[in-house]
Amino acid sequence: MSCDFAFFILHFALNFTFGTRYILRCGDFSNNYSLFACTWRRIHETGARYMVNCMHEAAYYKKLDGNKVQCLLCPHFCVIAEGERGKCWPRQNIGGRLCATTYGLASSVALDPIEKKPLYHFHPRTNILSLGSLGCNLKCVFCQNYEISQVTAERTIPVEIDDIIKEAKRLGSIGIAYTYNEPLIWFEFVKDCAARVRKAGLFNVLVTNGLVNPGPFDELLPLIDALNIDIKSIEDDFYVKYCGGVLGPILRNTKRAAESAHVEVTNLVIPTLNDKDENFIKLRDWLFDNVGPDIPVHLSRYFPCYKLKIPPTPRETLERAREIFAKKMKYVHLGNV
Ligand code: SF4
Repeated sequence: MSCDFAFFILHFALNFTFGTRYILRCGDFSNNYSLFACTWRRIHETGARYMVNCMHEAAYYKKLDGNKVQCLLCPHFCVIAEGERGKCWPRQNIGGRLCATTYGLASSVALDPIEKKPLYHFHPRTNILSLGSLGCNLKCVFCQNYEISQVTAERTIPVEIDDIIKEAKRLGSIGIAYTYNEPLIWFEFVKDCAARVRKAGLFNVLVTNGLVNPGPFDELLPLIDALNIDIKSIEDDFYVKYCGGVLGPILRNTKRAAESAHVEVTNLVIPTLNDKDENFIKLRDWLFDNVGPDIPVHLSRYFPCYKLKIPPTPRETLERAREIFAKKMKYVHLGNV
């Protein structure tokens, strides 16, 4: 059977199994970006990724008895049995190896104003080519991007680093932003892409929840020019109860990032959950004491999303928060208003 004929059969099988999802997604992108032109070859590659086991071995894990592995990328330290996935989803134990199953697979691509990240003090009024994949190592009940972060379906297209860089230059983008879902669990791809993006003279931007272990974070940071780090609350209880995570490593990483890159912080203000004066004062004081008054703060308005149904944040709450932050911090912005 010729190779082309084999690919045709594979393509037919994929579309039978997954419907027209791939073609529609590729079609959406190809309207705007030539690198996502939906060729037969790319569809075949997508299929191959689902059919060939462990295309890309993950970094930061160790093998355990019984073909189990333990992921060392983030503070969850998931122990993963064969065939299972970690809490974040993309990292899967295939045959006793931890695999980065979303390496080179994007779920979302767009050219965004840098202010949308949000970064207001890093090359303002420019655009940045923004990529996201699938999964997240937090399980926030209010997630605003839950369709790609809390994965219920695989919806991706393959992207090549050279194509991404070419397209960024063609579009006049200042660089690449790794965003939409959590980029730190896309670690291997982000690191490889960021190294080439840096070499090409473009910037790398991370929009992140900051939940990663010190080793991988320190490995990635020298390649990163700017970060927006989401500090959802200054209370550890909040992370445990509403996000399935912990606060300590996020604060550590915020401090660490601010030593080597441009950092802005976002706090999503949610009525009754993290909107008391004492919440704002504690976060403000931590920022002031640990990263200084110059770090920009974005106080973002919450809207009901995913599992959380309480009404949106009143404007007055955000104004009150801004007043409190502005007593010590120089740059306080309201978002989603
Ligand atoms: S990165 Fe994912 S698999 Fe690894 S420890 Fe964190 S949640 Fe678990």
